[in-house]
Amino acid sequence: MKLKILGNGGAINDGLNYNSFIIGDAFLVEAPPDIINSLFQFNIDYKKIKYIYISHVHGDHCFGFPFLMLRFFFDRVEGEIQVLGPSGMAVHLKEITRLSFGDDHPVNSWIKENIVFTEISHSESVWIGHEFEITPFPVFHLVETLAFKISRNSIINNDFIYLADSKWDDALLNYISDRKYIILCDMNGEPTDPVQIHISEQDILDKALPAIDIDTKVIGTHLKKNKTSQHRRIVYAESGDEIDI
Ligand SMILES: [Zn+2]
Repeated sequence: MKLKILGNGGAINDGLNYNSFIIGDAFLVEAPPDIINSLFQFNIDYKKIKYIYISHVHGDHCFGFPFLMLRFFFDRVEGEIQVLGPSGMAVHLKEITRLSFGDDHPVNSWIKENIVFTEISHSESVWIGHEFEITPFPVFHLVETLAFKISRNSIINNDFIYLADSKWDDALLNYISDRKYIILCDMNGEPTDPVQIHISEQDILDKALPAIDIDTKVIGTHLKKNKTSQHRRIVYAESGDEIDI
């Protein structure tokens, strides 16, 4: 199945599209502030989106949600859309939409009628349509953040992990080292960061690569700027890239 990178930028970046991607036509991951721009930039038929995954409620992952809802409302998109995310996500997303457009805007009632908020935890898998299942797992960030795995099946060619915003912790090896994966990984960490909040290339080189499968491919995203890797087992995502998963 095709995964398309809509943006590879972290909260602080030098003008990149903010971090988000879509798997197939229906599964959008993250709703950053510029999600509408990114969807149009890559000619995504957003009316086909049926699932939206928000890894955590930091603004660079969800502040585009009100504008996405407004667009769906404006275009009279029909049929249920499921929004998945950690606990507290539903209240947060409704509140930022209310703050964006006010109590009386009809988008609020459109959301009530069309959006199903599903708060997930790391103990339960969720089916995305009939096609594949995601299994969330916790990572190490400032607010509750859920990464996820997708296991190989008849239409998913590779075991895949989205390792959303996290600092490095050796406990991550429990999730990423049991087999060969494609890992799309927050690699926003840079040696010059005042505080280490995100995984860095050095973390991957020193702590991950020695422990994970030799054929696991690590794709860095959520970056400060476009980067090229010097290591054959690490690549950096760019907006518009397509990954076969
Ligand atoms: Zn974050």
